[in-house]
Amino acid sequence: MSNINNKTRLKIKIEGAVQGVGFRPFIYRIATELNLNGWVNNSSEGVFIEVEGSRENLEQFLSKINTEKPAISIINNLNYKYLAPLNYSKFEIKKSVSGAKTAIVLPEIATCNDCIQDIFNPKNRRFEYPFTNCTNCGPRYTIINSLPYDRNNTTMSNFTMCSDCQKEYENPLNRRFHAQPNACSKCGPHLELWDVSGNLISSHNSALKLTVNAIKNGQIVAIKGLGGFHLVADASNNDAVTTLRHRKHRPDKPFALMFPNMETVNNHCQVSDLEKQLLLSPQAPIVLLFCHNRGHIAESISPNNPYLGVMLPYTPLHHLLMKKLGFPIIATSANLADEPICIDENEALIRLKDIADLFLIHNRPIVRAVDDSIVRVVGDRPLILRRARGYAPLPTLTNYDFPPMLAVGGHFKNTIAIAQHNQVFLSQHIGDLATTQSLQAFEEAIAKLSSIYDLKPDSVVCDLHPDYISSQWAAKLNLPLTRVQHHKAHVFACIADNDIKPPVLGVAWDGTGYGEDGTIWGGEFFLVTDTDCPRVAHLRQFSQPGGEKAVKEPRRSAMGILYEIFGDELFRSPPPPLRSGVVRTYLAPFKDMSASAGQIYQKMLNNGINTPKTSSIGRFFDGVVSLLGIRQQVSFEGQGAMELEFLLRNNINQKYSFIIRDTNPLIVDFEPIILGILDDIKINLDRSIISAKFHNTLADIIVEIAQKIAIKQVLLTGGCFQNKYLTERTILSLKQANFTPFWHKNIPPNDGGIALGQIIINNR
Ligand code: ZN
Ligand code: ZN
Ligand code: FE
Repeated sequence: MSNINNKTRLKIKIEGAVQGVGFRPFIYRIATELNLNGWVNNSSEGVFIEVEGSRENLEQFLSKINTEKPAISIINNLNYKYLAPLNYSKFEIKKSVSGAKTAIVLPEIATCNDCIQDIFNPKNRRFEYPFTNCTNCGPRYTIINSLPYDRNNTTMSNFTMCSDCQKEYENPLNRRFHAQPNACSKCGPHLELWDVSGNLISSHNSALKLTVNAIKNGQIVAIKGLGGFHLVADASNNDAVTTLRHRKHRPDKPFALMFPNMETVNNHCQVSDLEKQLLLSPQAPIVLLFCHNRGHIAESISPNNPYLGVMLPYTPLHHLLMKKLGFPIIATSANLADEPICIDENEALIRLKDIADLFLIHNRPIVRAVDDSIVRVVGDRPLILRRARGYAPLPTLTNYDFPPMLAVGGHFKNTIAIAQHNQVFLSQHIGDLATTQSLQAFEEAIAKLSSIYDLKPDSVVCDLHPDYISSQWAAKLNLPLTRVQHHKAHVFACIADNDIKPPVLGVAWDGTGYGEDGTIWGGEFFLVTDTDCPRVAHLRQFSQPGGEKAVKEPRRSAMGILYEIFGDELFRSPPPPLRSGVVRTYLAPFKDMSASAGQIYQKMLNNGINTPKTSSIGRFFDGVVSLLGIRQQVSFEGQGAMELEFLLRNNINQKYSFIIRDTNPLIVDFEPIILGILDDIKINLDRSIISAKFHNTLADIIVEIAQKIAIKQVLLTGGCFQNKYLTERTILSLKQANFTPFWHKNIPPNDGGIALGQIIINNR
């Protein structure tokens, strides 16, 4: 009991992600443990607390808030002051001030350890119940229709709690106190197994058992999860994997895997402490791990790729399923090629009818499609490559005060963003806006995110590219429209992600973006000052015969690059030795090319027919991929560049020479790089060494440009910086040359970050 004589009162205000995470029950618990009286409540501004007791206990209380707070909560600000006591007689959780639309919608939280124990304990009333959750875990963003986050505003409103669940919900000492999706097998959602025609085969636990058997027998099951359907198959069954690839029209792109537990992950992959932390985190993303022992995992899961995309179970349904299976499964987004992920069972029957053999569904509706996030550890910290479940829609905090604004992002890996006050809410990954389904998902994402925050935009921002569907869509809104250059948007996304102030040298390297001069950019350097953002350097341009076709055919980029250097010499017949001494017919891009195909290329390049100029590093990568004979066709963007990265030998320090031309903007001339590569091809130098030399050269280019521009802060953004070796080598080289490098952390370096950059740049 506290000593009456030295009793004092502590008033605390906490801001951050502290609502809907079990924060008030946590405060209740530590207050009562320390014999403190007073109260806690939620308001639109955050959590308010008043507690009374001995000074010593109050200090302990403060320190426990920091050390024992719920894992998912984020404290942005904690203010407190000591006051005279009011002699409270008990500790209570006061009613919230409701209707606040400034509260933050939280992302999904992976099943907590307490809930895992519940579902595996035969004596627990939630034994094997696949929709178990508590205030520390479970669905959030995928079930919420509107704020405040109360059960009747979620898709759980159809389910009335039984008396046991209701008691938990009302008891501040219970970890299900105000857990909005609280449920049990008596009152909550349940499973059903359907055949391809939607006929009920089985329900509840027997549906799960039959699903397990089907997967063991090599069948493909569409399983409704948290943010959409997964297509699931035995990862060791090569026939099942091949069938899935065929049915999904996805020839090479790696499939994500779900492993039963950490132990099986360790058996197959190299896992650092940080990677382990990520796998087991409340966000539970797919983590790209180096696979040292494929074991039974089919080669066809990730052809020519030493990495595996690995996640651990993150819902009770996954835990139950994986425990019964005991082996890794494919758990890939249920869609056809680049369409958005499927979320509704009736829609799934139509869209997935030619892909899945069975459908394991449940009756808790999903409000919005939220894919699994993808993370890779780069430069000793996580780099989010696809930002969705677990991360979206947490806001990026800025120093601006935004008028209500909408940004529609780019075309590939589209996300949208809305801004209000000092916050930018970047949506979950939507996808490539190439199909009617994805356009619909794009429109829905805008409508739903705006309505949650009651936001009516005053203005809209889009990409400069006139042909992007997102740009055309934005132009049809009756709002003031700003078009932002693609690579500048990348740079400002990275500035916001790192919260840095100009001056900054922004390096934006990617595949494709519409430039201010109408050519295709992608190897760009910008000098960002408080008022301006000029393009200060770029890669020498080359022709891209066939335009967009070059994305799927690295050979086209090689043609453009070689033609830039050798001109018509390249196509002369009989082929002469080129300047480097190599004869063209010896080179990989020409090896199985017919004479007539060669003539077509020559004609296009000579006359500039459908051969846009580009300064894209992504296409430059493709050209090298083609020259080295790694591949002449790709089935997804960046496939060639990834294979070039995977081929690379780590302990090589050699590099090629290059020239920086002293023009304005500076031009990075690649001619010596290509001549060097041709020399190495001539002597049959191992491609793993050529790849290393090439990557090292790119890092050196950035350092040399930084030295010429002489700005200390150098920022790396764009899809090329998903490349681990390139990013890490550049970071190291910049540091050695006394620069301060910045790269992405919470926002993807690829086009998934564009919308955030559009907002920031529009507000400058
Ligand atoms: Zn839980
Ligand atoms: Zn119940
Ligand atoms: Fe881009």
